[in-house]
Amino acid sequence: MTCKNCGNNFEGNFCNNCGQSSKVSRIDFKFLVHEIPNSVFQLNRGFFYTIKELCVRPGSGIRDYLAGKRKRFYKPIAYLLITSALYILTAHLMGINTFIADLFAGFMRGLGVQEQSYGVEIINWILKNQTYLTLLFIPLFSLASYIAFKNYKYNYVEHFVLNLYVTGQQMLIYLILSFVITKDNTLIIFPIALSMTYNIWTYIQFFDKKHISKLIRILLTYILYLIEIFLILFVIAGFLEKTK
Ligand SMILES: [Zn+2]
Repeated sequence: MTCKNCGNNFEGNFCNNCGQSSKVSRIDFKFLVHEIPNSVFQLNRGFFYTIKELCVRPGSGIRDYLAGKRKRFYKPIAYLLITSALYILTAHLMGINTFIADLFAGFMRGLGVQEQSYGVEIINWILKNQTYLTLLFIPLFSLASYIAFKNYKYNYVEHFVLNLYVTGQQMLIYLILSFVITKDNTLIIFPIALSMTYNIWTYIQFFDKKHISKLIRILLTYILYLIEIFLILFVIAGFLEKTK
């Protein structure tokens, strides 16, 4: 058979050229859960290669990974766990708020809104914890991208993997910029703009058909994502109202 990783022809269970299993199949939920325990602490296995790929050719790299070139890649969940831990630790050590929290605080001051009002407090809490929520909301973002790009025939878990890698790389962008941009409020929009640009660039590469509609689908992804978040906030607010 032909190895999906390196293209070598081989017999048996493992490729004699690169060592990838012959049983590489399409990614599903079982695959994702299976990878977690034995991949987090094996940094030597593809971590830096994955950083490089995601810097140079993110969309093509992730597409290769899904297509079966898995051997050299660091596993997606493990990658996100490590990059986000590094970012959170760095932000903590440098005593900086996460970027969006700062941006929002400045915005509210600009509007002259009382900082101790109930609604502002909730939103502040959300923004202070936005890094964690970003991580928590990847399944929601994936649902949005899955719906928006449904005609590309990737399944939900494949979208989830795509967004795990993108978010992992965004954590590194935040991490690096946290050394450059510390307290200067006018620059705070920059990391957010850069990480969104990174997302868009990756998607344009990943969905490789030459359709102008890609941009519309990206926009649709963000709109659906916002709608999902508002729906959830709406349900939570309704629930809190009832239990008062
Ligand atoms: Zn091989």
